[in-house]
Amino acid sequence: MNKIEYKVKKSFRKTLSLQVRNGEVIVKAPIFVFEATIKSFVNKHIDWIKSKLEQDKNKVIYTSTQILELKQKAKDYIIPKAKELSEKFWLKYNTIKITSAKTRWGSCTSKKCLNFSYRLILTTPKVIDYVIVHELAHLKHMNHSKKFWSEVEYMMPDYKECEKWLKKHWSLIW
Ligand SMILES: [Zn+2]
Repeated sequence: MNKIEYKVKKSFRKTLSLQVRNGEVIVKAPIFVFEATIKSFVNKHIDWIKSKLEQDKNKVIYTSTQILELKQKAKDYIIPKAKELSEKFWLKYNTIKITSAKTRWGSCTSKKCLNFSYRLILTTPKVIDYVIVHELAHLKHMNHSKKFWSEVEYMMPDYKECEKWLKKHWSLIW
C-alpha cells in the first residue's frame, strides 16, 4: 500500500471524518485521539480517498479573472439561448439569472424565475440546451413527474444523453 499524506484538524468533536478537497486529504478528529487510530481510519478508507484524489486530478482550477470571464460568457450565451427556446416553446419566465451554483446546474422558482450556473458554459451547447429545456418544463410542472419528463422529451427527444453526460461530468466542473 503506498502512503497517503493527510492533514489532521483537531476539534471538539466526537467522531473522525474525512475530506478530500483540491488534492488534499483532511482528517477531522477529536482532540484526544491516538495517532494510530487516525492512521487505521485513513487506511480503512484508502480506496475512497484514492478515487477522490483521482477525480481531483482531472479537475481544472480557475483563477478569479478566469471565473469572471466564464460568467460573462455564460451570460452572453445562456440568456439569449433561453429566450430563444422559451419563445419557441411558448413557455414564459419572469426573470433569468446566471448564478455561481455548484451543485445545481439550473433551477426554477415558483415565481417563474430561472437560474443557471455559469459553470454550464464549460459543458456543451447541447447540454446547455437540455438544462434550459429542463428548467422551462418546470414552468409548467414544478416537479419531476411523468408529465414533466414528457414535456422535456417533447422539446428534446434525446434529452437522456445529456442527463447522463451531466451526471458523469458535473462533479469535474466544480
Ligand atoms: Zn428539475
